[in-house]
Amino acid sequence: MELVDSMINGNIISMARLISLVESGDDQVPQIMKHVYPHTGKAYRIGLTGPPGVGKSTLVDKLTSVIRSQDLTAGIIAVDPTSPFSGGAVLGDRIRMQQHYLDQGVFIRSMATRGSLGGLPKTASEVINIMDASGKDIILIETVGVGQSELDIIKNADTVVVILAPGAGDSIQTMKAGLLEIADIFVINKADNPGADDLVSEIQTMLQLNTRKHEIWEIPVIATQAINNYGVETLYQQIHSHHQTISKSGVLAQQRKEQRREQFINTIEQEISAELLRMMKRDIQLKEYINKVEMAEIDPYSAAYEILSSATLLDMLAQQLLQRKRHND
Ligand code: GDP
Repeated sequence: MELVDSMINGNIISMARLISLVESGDDQVPQIMKHVYPHTGKAYRIGLTGPPGVGKSTLVDKLTSVIRSQDLTAGIIAVDPTSPFSGGAVLGDRIRMQQHYLDQGVFIRSMATRGSLGGLPKTASEVINIMDASGKDIILIETVGVGQSELDIIKNADTVVVILAPGAGDSIQTMKAGLLEIADIFVINKADNPGADDLVSEIQTMLQLNTRKHEIWEIPVIATQAINNYGVETLYQQIHSHHQTISKSGVLAQQRKEQRREQFINTIEQEISAELLRMMKRDIQLKEYINKVEMAEIDPYSAAYEILSSATLLDMLAQQLLQRKRHND
């Protein structure tokens, strides 16, 4: 836990080490998170999502400069669905960091999506909490909006920015991916390209038909040119304004409540399924069931319900979890 203390005191190497432990599913994760958690809740979490190539990374880079110019610090999580290896993610960090590489006020971490289908990796909320506890003022979470990530990002971000760019089929894609439902702010990047004005109008029309968040906040559509640093300040101001609106109205407190509940349920789910996977490799009865299911001697549903109703599995699961906890304590 010295590592946690040193991270909280601003040691970047300790933070990177903690994040690696969390990502690798180390046995000490429960202890680590227990110590990290009391220091969380101060950072503001901004989710940025959109289809590949619309300029998310470029925009995050420019937004980081605005954040730094306000004397605020930033933690950046860039989720890279294409790279299943952490080696690839490290290279991604280098490329993304160019401008902020030597800046102590910016911490960037790329994460691969690994098990989850697009969206955020399972450990993303722990990484967000570690960055939060380290004292970063703002956390930017960049993900590729591919359809599965909407709920994930909404569970982890206070303000969600959906980024699009002019190009065939983008707006239809948006509707399909459900991005319209999660956006607090829309950005039409590459406004220097033809079709940007049309896309802005199209999104505005779509928003008029969708009344979900309109009661307290009118969703703005902002045109930006990330490469030319145009519109980035406006985006930052809108994020700030959304932050203020949801703080005053109590929506932020409600969202944070939901985030905590989600973390609780997810942690239980993850621990149980990890233990179950370990048991499947060892337990003879389970192995037999797996064999029978594989050979179609029994259907998967009947097998699952038989195992669950036998209660021995659940007993064993509980015992294993207890043993592991004692061992870690
Ligand atoms: P991401 O995949 O959404 O993260 O997109 P990137 O940030 O990697 O950008 C994809 C490409 O679009 C890069 O070549 C950027 O230089 C370019 N790009 C980013 N912003 C703009 C912009 O405002 N206008 C134009 N024309 N190109 C941009």
